[in-house]
Amino acid sequence: MIVLLEGILKKIFGDPNEKEIKNIRVIVDKINSLEKDMESLSSANLAAKTSEFKVRLQKGETLDDILPEAFAVVREASRRVTGMRHFDVQLIGGVVLHRGKIAEMRTGEGKTLVATAPVYLNALTGKGVHVVTVNDYLARRDSEDMGRIYKFLGLSVGLIVHDMDFPDRKAAYAADITNNEFGFDYLRDNMVVDENQMVQRELNYCIVDEVDSILIDEARTPLIISGPGEKSTELYQVLARVVANMEEGEDYTVDEKQKQVAPTEKGIAKAEKMLGIGNLYDNEHGVDYSHQIMCALKAKALMHRDRDYVVKDGQVIIVDEFTGRLMFGRRFSEGLHQAIEAKEGVKVERESQTLATITFQNYFRMYKKLAGMTGTAKTEEQEFQKIYNLPVVVVPTNKPMIRIDYPDVIYKTRIAKYKAAVNEIEECHKSGRPVLVGTTSIAQSEELSAMLKRRNIPHNVLNAKYHEKEAEIISHAGQYGAVTIATNMAGRGTDITLGEGVPELGGLHIIGTERHESRRIDNQLRGRCARQGDPGSSKFFLSLEDDLMRLFGSDNIAGIMDKLGMEDDEPIEHSLVTKSIENAQKKVEARNFSIRKHVLEYDDVMNQQREVIYSQRHKILHQENLKDTIKEMVDETVERTMTMYAPPEVYSEDWDLQALINYAEDFYAPRGLLTVDYLQNLSREELAEYLQKVADDNYQAREDAIGPELMRELENLVMLKVVDNHWMEHLDAMDMLREGVGLRAYGQKDPLVEYKFEAYDMFEAMMEAIKEDVVRYIYRVNVITQPQVEDPLENASTNNPTPEGDEGNLKAEPKK
Ligand code: ADP
Repeated sequence: MIVLLEGILKKIFGDPNEKEIKNIRVIVDKINSLEKDMESLSSANLAAKTSEFKVRLQKGETLDDILPEAFAVVREASRRVTGMRHFDVQLIGGVVLHRGKIAEMRTGEGKTLVATAPVYLNALTGKGVHVVTVNDYLARRDSEDMGRIYKFLGLSVGLIVHDMDFPDRKAAYAADITNNEFGFDYLRDNMVVDENQMVQRELNYCIVDEVDSILIDEARTPLIISGPGEKSTELYQVLARVVANMEEGEDYTVDEKQKQVAPTEKGIAKAEKMLGIGNLYDNEHGVDYSHQIMCALKAKALMHRDRDYVVKDGQVIIVDEFTGRLMFGRRFSEGLHQAIEAKEGVKVERESQTLATITFQNYFRMYKKLAGMTGTAKTEEQEFQKIYNLPVVVVPTNKPMIRIDYPDVIYKTRIAKYKAAVNEIEECHKSGRPVLVGTTSIAQSEELSAMLKRRNIPHNVLNAKYHEKEAEIISHAGQYGAVTIATNMAGRGTDITLGEGVPELGGLHIIGTERHESRRIDNQLRGRCARQGDPGSSKFFLSLEDDLMRLFGSDNIAGIMDKLGMEDDEPIEHSLVTKSIENAQKKVEARNFSIRKHVLEYDDVMNQQREVIYSQRHKILHQENLKDTIKEMVDETVERTMTMYAPPEVYSEDWDLQALINYAEDFYAPRGLLTVDYLQNLSREELAEYLQKVADDNYQAREDAIGPELMRELENLVMLKVVDNHWMEHLDAMDMLREGVGLRAYGQKDPLVEYKFEAYDMFEAMMEAIKEDVVRYIYRVNVITQPQVEDPLENASTNNPTPEGDEGNLKAEPKK
């Protein structure tokens, strides 16, 4: 229906994609017309264009005004420095990026070069441009190769990679153009205690390479910075042993589709017996047991070694399901990672406490302008548009694409499928035609590799385990006689050129051994061949036993095969089948989108809160004078003393003055100054005035004692520490709330609505608690004048002489 409507609209209004491309071609004509002039410039004069543009921008011209000239300058600079002259379609892609959209350009179209023009143009504003790549290797390569163009034109380039230290990081961000690692830096910047430790500048313009990989695949798990927590790890080991003795079907059930497990009555009883406890859900440790046993079951039933994770050097490392890459440093959340560690018998790391977290979505949405490029975006167009407000523009190829996509062939069994695939590989190999075989897991790659070995077919296996060499190996995949097996998208971003004589054989042949959940990933695999007008072809070998077919395929296919009385090694090859698989994929894609949207909806709630807290931190770090803010908090506390202990509706004889004194002393009154004897003679008004004066005088006394300068510093430090402590605890509490609120779906309530309400209440409560603690500590913390102490407050808190001990410690109480 919708498709039909789209078709009609296109007929009436024209294809919007075509329209945009046509519109951009006019600009490209202009750029082309400037080429002769640029060619005639000396290198010095060409480079001088940069300062000329900057001046013109200051005088009021816009980026769009100078775009044609700037692009022409970059093209000429590139020709001189790298020998590559931007194709027209590359300039089209560049304009799309400048407009803050996604340029879908096929593999081999030269996206790296495409980015140079908009990067240069936007860097002219001096506000910085970020270029994000999928890994450090590409970041380094791009910043070196393309960096030569920018440097020629007088712009600076910085590179950010994983293991880089603070001064280098900061310097890199100061450059006009930087690559990689931005999300974490943003979080870290909001944890520092000194403004000078921040590395990022404002988030101005960002181009994301392989945008679907970063904004969609990676976006399923938020970025988390965490520190060690305090919970014990022993229980994980105990529970791993418990579930090892439980049987699927008997003791627990598995819903593979929804990725859920649930213990049965019998299983629960069994676990209780093994643990020697009365009731798994209802005792003092109840929450922990029931949650952790779920983790243990999930680890056992749903998480498979060498598919979902690998064990390397005694560590459990997540395998990215889309890229097959090892995600070092990332951990499954909420105890699942520990449960897997226990199952694998490696050291169980302590559960960590979240110190800061943000989703990719909310990080990238902070840029003033965002753009991206990839070979495969169209299938996810809706998501890009809805979540990131990024339209997708399909840019035509430089040369016509002549790839042949053969229809899928389907076998009854996996074994038959592999045999057929290996036969085809052998055939190609005999003729010398190179083959690239895509798989969806490391285990599959290895199975296939073993089969090829038995037939003496030399080949390379590429999977996440050899990430370092990926790029090198895959770049040779198009050579004569090469056979390469790769988990899907391994070596993404690396160009595969054809060897001598290979075009005559039909170019690179791609074999897929399983359809991925997402069509985009399949397209990515097909797209590895037939670049820049090369010949090439692709074919997928599938079986009814594949996950996708088993879980989401309709029963039709199996029915057809049975009816036809087909043998195991007889394939079915029909467009109907391909259609039905595509439908299954669409179903899964939609489901995955809704999962990501769900994560985001929850993060959106926290995002508003994060903005409030981070902006407070900025103020504090920026050394704003906080005295008035804190005095306001003091005034509120004085008022609260009155409403709590001397309310107007209660007779003054009935006021509990001793309690009032205790309260005031807890916050702002010097010990021993207030006495019941004195206070009982005061009217309500007098009492309020008196308390206010006591608080003010005490404040002044502290300021006189240490001097105003140090007092201002102390105010800032107290605020920062208190805000940070409460915020981190709040993050933890929000985690638990999110987990817990899911259960309410059973009570006919919308968990998201519940979550929003409660998150709001919790945030309000936190803000109140922050105020209270700030007042408490500002009157309490002692300053030790000791130069060169890294964190004077930390020091002060541990040296706190208050006999009550704990209250001098800046770690806030968890608010229930
Ligand atoms: P993509 O990322 O789009 O797959 P790459 O950026 O890896 O493509 O570029 C593919 C290859 O094409 C690289 O070897 C690059 O040097 C080359 N290339 C790109 N643009 C041009 C050009 N305008 N002229 C000549 N070679 C180019």
